[in-house]
Amino acid sequence: MKKIGILLLLGALIVGGVFYFRDTEEPRLTLSPGTEAVSAKRPLRLQLEDPGSGLNSIKVVAVQGEKAFPVFSETFGSETLFRETEFGLQDAPLKDGPFELRVTATDHSIYHFGAGNTAEETYILQFDSRAPILSVVSSAHNLNQGGSALIVYTISEEVDRTGVMVGDFFFPGYLQESGNYACFFALPYHMSPKQFAPELIAEDRAGNQRRTDFYHHANPRNFPSGKINLDERFLKMLQPRFEAFFPEAATPLELFLKVNGELRKENVRALRDFGKQTASGPLWQGVFLRQPNAAHLGGFAAARSYFYEGKKVDEQTHMGVDLASIALAPIPAANAGKVVHADDLGIYGKCVIIDHGMGLQSLYGHLSRIDVEKGETVAKGQTIGNSGATGLAGGDHLHFEIILSGLSVNPVEWWDPAWLKNNVGDKLSLSVAK
Ligand SMILES: [Zn+2]
Repeated sequence: MKKIGILLLLGALIVGGVFYFRDTEEPRLTLSPGTEAVSAKRPLRLQLEDPGSGLNSIKVVAVQGEKAFPVFSETFGSETLFRETEFGLQDAPLKDGPFELRVTATDHSIYHFGAGNTAEETYILQFDSRAPILSVVSSAHNLNQGGSALIVYTISEEVDRTGVMVGDFFFPGYLQESGNYACFFALPYHMSPKQFAPELIAEDRAGNQRRTDFYHHANPRNFPSGKINLDERFLKMLQPRFEAFFPEAATPLELFLKVNGELRKENVRALRDFGKQTASGPLWQGVFLRQPNAAHLGGFAAARSYFYEGKKVDEQTHMGVDLASIALAPIPAANAGKVVHADDLGIYGKCVIIDHGMGLQSLYGHLSRIDVEKGETVAKGQTIGNSGATGLAGGDHLHFEIILSGLSVNPVEWWDPAWLKNNVGDKLSLSVAK
């Protein structure tokens, strides 16, 4: 009997020991950002996990000099193995400069005689409440409605995001080798000069944002309008090209309206994404080339009305310039750059997009043949393919666009050496030479 008693006691000790040592690991914690400048404007994110016995409590204290400010605490009754939370520093009256963030977390382990395992981590961070200072270097930002401009400026510190905001459209600025920033922006064709109020913005890594207006002058422009009659032959021709996009379309006209409306919108959205695939510095040199000996068939921002059997059925804006010479004409790259798209693209048919840097890109649509590949570097004037009538086109021509960060602008300016010198070249030299 005595032996059994000893065995039972030993067994209890082993079970107790296993339970006692079951969770000897302290909670694991991660803070982000854990090293950079922070402010009260952006929350910090804390991740905690304790797979052993679950979290019991979290406490976060900001310490600067002699002062300690509690900024966040939480306790857990039920089993919480993982917690991701955000907290701000808005209640801690910190001064700009270094401070410590001390994070303490305990778990439900009975280890340490029931006190649990404790994780303590100290992060040394910089408190930064000051917005970056912007200084505009370039002057005379003159824009035509639908046209482009360049602004050159400096920022007093490293930033997360900077550029020009026009309405809700953001044109990113790019840091140049000189240390200056350069940003292409536009007065969108559909915005009247009176509504146009571009703002230069910069947001630092701590989330402090500066917004400032700057000198500019905007000129109104009138855009052409035109009528397009949709005949049965044209609508039937489009069917094999587009029926896979909208198999639900019951008639050739319904298919056309979906392509001209929905697919057009989708393609315009895609231009925003291509606009982000850009070099930070200029890849182009000098004036942009226009397809030689080509007649100007359709203008930029032309309001087009579409008629079917005498009735108006649709309205769209034409965002490029249509150029036509001979059929299957060789198409030159308007300037040096890198190919970001060389494939089908909805209404544009076979389409090439060349990045010239800083969000500036050129687009060539309705091609019959493409001679370049995505990722390839092209020289100014190099043949990139041949004109055609692919996509939403009735006859052989080139649809040409100049695009700034995904927004189509008037290409005519970019063909004009005087405009380019005054509005781009001279300003850009401010960001190159210093
Ligand atoms: Zn066109």
